[in-house]
Amino acid sequence: METEGVKEPDCISAVIPGWFSEISPMWPGEAHSLKVEKILFQGKSDYQDVMVFQSSTYGKVLVLDGVIQLTERDECAYQEMITHLPLCSIPNPKKVLVIGGGDGGVLREVSRHSSVEKIEICEIDKMVVDVSKQFFPDIAVGYEDPRVTLHIGDGVAFLKAVPEGTYDAVIVDSSDPIGPAQELFKKPFFESVAKALRPGGVMCTQAESIWLHMHIIEDILANSRQVFKGSVKYAWTTVPTYPSGVIGFMLCSTEGPEVDFKHPVNPIDAHDKSGRPLRFYNSEIHSAAFCLPSFAKKVIDYK
Ligand code: SAM
Repeated sequence: METEGVKEPDCISAVIPGWFSEISPMWPGEAHSLKVEKILFQGKSDYQDVMVFQSSTYGKVLVLDGVIQLTERDECAYQEMITHLPLCSIPNPKKVLVIGGGDGGVLREVSRHSSVEKIEICEIDKMVVDVSKQFFPDIAVGYEDPRVTLHIGDGVAFLKAVPEGTYDAVIVDSSDPIGPAQELFKKPFFESVAKALRPGGVMCTQAESIWLHMHIIEDILANSRQVFKGSVKYAWTTVPTYPSGVIGFMLCSTEGPEVDFKHPVNPIDAHDKSGRPLRFYNSEIHSAAFCLPSFAKKVIDYK
């Protein structure tokens, strides 16, 4: 496949010429592939390889270090669920922090909540922000909200400097626990998130796949239960272009006002004036997201 002299990275046509195959030690023996129409961007930041390509069936695709982060066709499932599962579980969220999420999709979803007064985002890689604004305007639209403040830096260091009880919600929209996101899955980071939340505040973090990563989920669960003294619940959803077609979320609340993640108290449709209808999230799928298959329930819902 010729693309005006752009060197094809290993994950393009590694398996089938003209296809992107997501080959990673995080999912050995399997690789999801997408047909590539055109490579639109390739770069190397201080943190990771960044690539954007036009696929034939999922729109444009953002890839970091050979791993799909989002596609135009199915990003709504992830962005809407990782945002509205926590924010619809507490009344009147006002101050929200996003860690990672450089594409701007979570910002777009947080801005649907009219009660929110301040949205901060700490993304380590400015190249992701710039590339998203250039190639994914309908996702990076989140940056246009006047309530948003962008910090470029490591989320671990950012949270260490945050005063206690600052936020109602922290959403950790991170890449996988290899590369720059490694520390975002560890207990010290969860402790700094808990400190930054008010009593009864909530965290939602990307929590991998029940088909592929039960060992990672068990670690996240153990750390969450040690650090968060309110509620700790696991939810999951379908995202066709994520490995095994699903992704999970760990939802945690700090000690204080009771948070029942399974039953939304703050339905988004009531006050969403964005003019962009939700494509995936609704109150029924919110509650259903916490229903687990038996093999996962045995490990995750044991108490
Ligand atoms: N939805 C994707 C997923 O589930 O894998 C994540 C998308 S978002 C693009 C992930 C972002 O986390 C990337 O932009 C990456 O640069 C950022 N990131 C990784 N480690 C980080 C850190 N330590 N601090 C802040 N941002 C980080």
